[in-house]
Amino acid sequence: MKIFEIQTQKVLALTKISLANYVINPYIGCQYGCLYCYAKYLKRSVKQSETRGWGEFVNVKINAVEVLKKELEKLNISAAENKPVVMLGSITEVYQPLEKKYKLTEQILKILIDFQIPTVILTRSNLILRDIELLKKLPKVSVFFTITSNNSLISQHFENQSPDYNTRLETIKKLRENNINVWAHIGPIIPYFTDTLVLIKDLKNIVSKIEFEALNTTTAPYNIVVEKLKNIDINKAVKFMKLYQSSETFNEYWHTEKNNIIFALKNTDIKTHFSFPQLNEYF
Ligand code: SF4
Repeated sequence: MKIFEIQTQKVLALTKISLANYVINPYIGCQYGCLYCYAKYLKRSVKQSETRGWGEFVNVKINAVEVLKKELEKLNISAAENKPVVMLGSITEVYQPLEKKYKLTEQILKILIDFQIPTVILTRSNLILRDIELLKKLPKVSVFFTITSNNSLISQHFENQSPDYNTRLETIKKLRENNINVWAHIGPIIPYFTDTLVLIKDLKNIVSKIEFEALNTTTAPYNIVVEKLKNIDINKAVKFMKLYQSSETFNEYWHTEKNNIIFALKNTDIKTHFSFPQLNEYF
């Protein structure tokens, strides 16, 4: 793992993501290096990711805190009636292990508190618990916390550097105990391999909001995924491959998956959001 300390000119970036007005990524690259990560295909990371390998480098924007402060002062946000929403971690993990040393996310949160800015955080890391008291001081905060699978083989092949399943569940539990607004983000759902209903069972007494995201074979290239899946369970991998050969079977699978989820959550107040393939998207 190569760590580079870099100077940045800009920290706040306008975004089209519907959840926020601006994104902040204090790091470029990610120590977790998940196989399905979309960030490695983005312009800013792609060159380095190609030459150094995704998950093999992190650029630390060492002056991010000072730059952010100046940017916010310039925008005159303190005086604004409708504060913009800032998202932390759209293309990196803001609580990856090196955050323990650099504390950029922690310092950025302190600035967002000073300016009273509503904040959205995307993470899968238990290190977020270090900042619970800071999260409570934000005027509004939503944490989107990713859960991928309770199957350790999936973790091993797709995201072997990320915190394990039980650690993530425990983290969500602690955030909720502290009244932090949490969306559990289940994804990517891998057909025949992700037991979504078991994940729901584990989550439904902890959270009140769950987002479901299907595997995207653009960001997790199909051939690589298939090779990994064959190592986990050859029979299921064959079914997986068949699924991608017929639009009818494919659509039927996601339709059934969605119905099963809705059924599992009936009689609960859990709010849901689905990022599932559109009909015929892959054909
Ligand atoms: S933790 Fe997030 S940013 Fe990091 S590699 Fe995984 S998906 Fe990408």
